[in-house]
Amino acid sequence: MPENKTGTIEKGICSSCGLCSIQEWPMHESIRSCVFKNGWLGKREKKLFGRERKPDNPEEMRFGITLERFTAQLEKPLPGAQWSGIVTAMARKAFESGLVDGVVTLHRSEDNHFFSRPVLAMTTEDIDASRGNKPVLSPVLRSLETAVRKKLKSILVIGAACHIHILRDFRERFAYLEDMDIYTIGIPCVDNVQRNRFNWILERMSRSPGTACHMEFMQDFRIHIRHTSGRTEKIPFFSLPEELSNPEIFPVACMGCFDYLNSLSDITVGYLAARLLPDQNRQWVLVRTKKGQQLLDFVNDELERYREEGEWECKKFIEKNTGQIIESMKEQKAAYSPDRKIPLLIGHILSWMLSRSGPKGIGFAHYSVDFHLIRHYYYIKYRYPEQLTVLVPRHVRSIIQEYGLPL
Ligand SMILES: Cc1cc2nc3c(=O)[nH]c(=O)nc-3n(C[C@H](O)[C@H](O)[C@H](O)COP(=O)(O)OP(=O)(O)OC[C@H]3O[C@@H](n4cnc5c(N)ncnc54)[C@H](O)[C@@H]3O)c2cc1C
Ligand code: SF4
Ligand code: SF4
Repeated sequence: MPENKTGTIEKGICSSCGLCSIQEWPMHESIRSCVFKNGWLGKREKKLFGRERKPDNPEEMRFGITLERFTAQLEKPLPGAQWSGIVTAMARKAFESGLVDGVVTLHRSEDNHFFSRPVLAMTTEDIDASRGNKPVLSPVLRSLETAVRKKLKSILVIGAACHIHILRDFRERFAYLEDMDIYTIGIPCVDNVQRNRFNWILERMSRSPGTACHMEFMQDFRIHIRHTSGRTEKIPFFSLPEELSNPEIFPVACMGCFDYLNSLSDITVGYLAARLLPDQNRQWVLVRTKKGQQLLDFVNDELERYREEGEWECKKFIEKNTGQIIESMKEQKAAYSPDRKIPLLIGHILSWMLSRSGPKGIGFAHYSVDFHLIRHYYYIKYRYPEQLTVLVPRHVRSIIQEYGLPL
């Protein structure tokens, strides 16, 4: 790890996880635990599970180590949650039962519905108020400082993969959190953006950015944007303006992210492999550790559970696009057009066709994980080659080779 003349290390690639803003310990100690210095998974995975993911298990290679996986929704979905609210329901019960004294998470910022502010939630109301996505880089870990100052004995941290990696490393590397029992709920996370980019992007996706209040990239190959009127605007991925395919609009951290499914969390709750049905909010649950099982037990009786569905195979859908992905990760183009790549009507037809004939369930999750791993591998290879050996975990190279692509 490169050090400067004072023996400290400096921030490089950064996802603004919040650890470096803490003043209880020196910033250079926080940086030592940074996933963008230490790399994704590998030793961290081994430390948590006693082994790394098995190279001969294609599902584990993509989804990480799990005790159990299934799809589910809360029988009574929580209004205002991103999907059915399984994350918030587990957090609330963990707190009310006394398992944890506080929840390190996010509230919405006062000035922008989609922006976040870190919070240590220590009441049921504050936990409820944390529900819903804030699709921007967010300093979740900043509230560890309050938890340390309050000498909490047990906390729950809800975060994206970068937060959970950095948290686990920091807890083991330094003594500051050693007296605190820590539970973690992970959300899958990909294509996150910096605050100062968010409105620019939303304006290019939506016809009415000012009224948008909920947004998700869905399994039907469309972005669904819900507006304050209750109307849902659907934009096919294929019909986004070309300028949104410029990799430079995403933070380097998120283009160098190799743990979409938050494999070091105790339990990951997403939606990727769940069936998309009208008026339902099915989610995808990946229980990874005993602590994750403990968290799940709090809401088990409130869940409608379903088995995972879908065909695993998705190779031909990935192979159709690999050439184009690799090319677009090479040199930056001189200009990206503000026009739609494909007119909306044709985009909708393509999305409809692909959602009928394309990968579904675990096949869709397989497709999305592989697509992003390939994109990120070539982004780092071409634009930050010196980071390739630091950031990229072993299984990514094996997956690249499965497609016969060059390393
Ligand atoms: C940028 C982003 C991209 C995502 N991409 C995918 C994806 O591709 N596939 C998939 O399956 N799932 C994805 N998710 C997760 C998914 O949208 C839901 O958050 C998750 O399924 C939980 O739903 P829920 O109803 O149980 O959550 P809720 O009960 O509403 O709770 C959501 C929790 O996530 C926290 N949270 C919100 N935004 C952030 C953030 N930026 N960083 C850290 N914590 C946050 C909230 O504070 C809250 O605690 C993404 C989330 C984000 C923020
Ligand atoms: S990602 Fe977190 S630990 Fe890493 S440099 Fe940024 S704030 Fe610090
Ligand atoms: S995409 Fe990765 S690096 Fe970016 S916020 Fe999400 S987990 Fe962190």
